[in-house]
Amino acid sequence: MKFQNPKGILSVIFVYIIIFSEYDNNSQSTIFIAIEFTLIYLMIHWAYIQAQIQSPGNPSPDLAKNYQEHTLQEIKSRTKKHSEIIQKKRQQKLMKKYELAIDEEDEIFDIIQAMQLDSYCFKCKNIKQPRTHHCKECNKCILRMDHHCPWVNNCIGLKNHRYFCQFIIYALLCMSQCFIFITIELLGNTQLKGDSKFLCQMCALTCLLLCLSMGTLLVFHLYHIAKNVTTVEFHIEEMKTDNPFLKSKTIDNFKELFGSNYIYWILPLTENESNKSKNKNDSFEL
Ligand SMILES: [Zn+2]
Ligand SMILES: [Zn+2]
Repeated sequence: MKFQNPKGILSVIFVYIIIFSEYDNNSQSTIFIAIEFTLIYLMIHWAYIQAQIQSPGNPSPDLAKNYQEHTLQEIKSRTKKHSEIIQKKRQQKLMKKYELAIDEEDEIFDIIQAMQLDSYCFKCKNIKQPRTHHCKECNKCILRMDHHCPWVNNCIGLKNHRYFCQFIIYALLCMSQCFIFITIELLGNTQLKGDSKFLCQMCALTCLLLCLSMGTLLVFHLYHIAKNVTTVEFHIEEMKTDNPFLKSKTIDNFKELFGSNYIYWILPLTENESNKSKNKNDSFEL
């Protein structure tokens, strides 16, 4: 457990300033609301720290040693071909010529098929299991990589995507309460005038903007978890129609990241190793 990237510490400090200012906004509440708010506030910290310090999941460093030389060469050449196709599609998209010619339709099948097979990371010199991607920021391969998050200063992958979602949910709950409390104060307190009123209005506006951005982010993540698509895969057009990882029941797509025990859906608890391997065998087939 360690901070993945010392350079990103400034963004983490920025997030902490926002979290601390949320608590300050609610110092004048009733006892019940103060306790409830404090609990949610502590959950934000807990989930945020977990998303930062828990590893997103990396392939075992000596995977390539288990492969025979000719199989390894086959995987390397398939990886090269796959990257060339993806690169070509990205260029076409940039040039707004995304539609493929008829003779290129087979390549679509290749992409979907290649995503289900092992590939090779030329930087780590190791096997990449399906859905594994190399993060340029961390300079490591990440299992079921979603994205590299500068605000968490860590990659979000198979093992910490759950904490990332929990952080957004608790932060959204906290911020929406801040917005409601400040709005009630603004509407109900007639003595609020001048600079104090302006400060309250600015706080309410900041909370509202943060709620909207956090809400949009949460909807994006929950929708794509339900569809079993990572943020990396979201950019691959074929995943929207031919997703080989999509499970028939939506709940099973959530279980892949959140686990089969519902207590882990609510609390950012660290699962013990036996539970982790059980869940992995249940739902994440490598
Ligand atoms: Zn790599
Ligand atoms: Zn990363």
